Amino acid sequence: MLETLNYSDEYQNTNENKQTKKIGRKCFNWKLLKTDLTKAAAESVLKKDKQWTFNKQYTTSCNIVLQYVCRKDDNCIARRKIVLQSNSLDASIFGTDEEHDHIEKKGRG
Ligand SMILES: [Zn+2]
Repeated sequence: MLETLNYSDEYQNTNENKQTKKIGRKCFNWKLLKTDLTKAAAESVLKKDKQWTFNKQYTTSCNIVLQYVCRKDDNCIARRKIVLQSNSLDASIFGTDEEHDHIEKKGRG
C-alpha cells in the first residue's frame, strides 16, 4: 500500500520559486517510521517527542504533507513529516535517518 506514496519534495519548489537558486540544499533520506495512523495520532506522536516543531503544510499530487523541523534549528538535518493520503487521510510518519546536526546555542559565559 505504501507504493502509493509517490510524492516528491521537489514539488514544493515549483512556480513561486523559479528564480530562487537552490543554495546548500541538503539531501534528506526519508524513512517510514509509523503508518496506519490518524492525523491526530500522528501529530500527538510528534508532540510527545518534543524535538519537532511544525514548519509548513504542502500538497503533492496524491498526498498532504505536514512538515516538521527540529525545534532548535529549522536547518537541522533531523526532520519529521506526516504524510496524509488525500483520499483516505490515513497518516504515516516519516523521519530522516540522520542524527541532529544543529549547533546548540550556548549561553554566554
Ligand atoms: Zn536538530
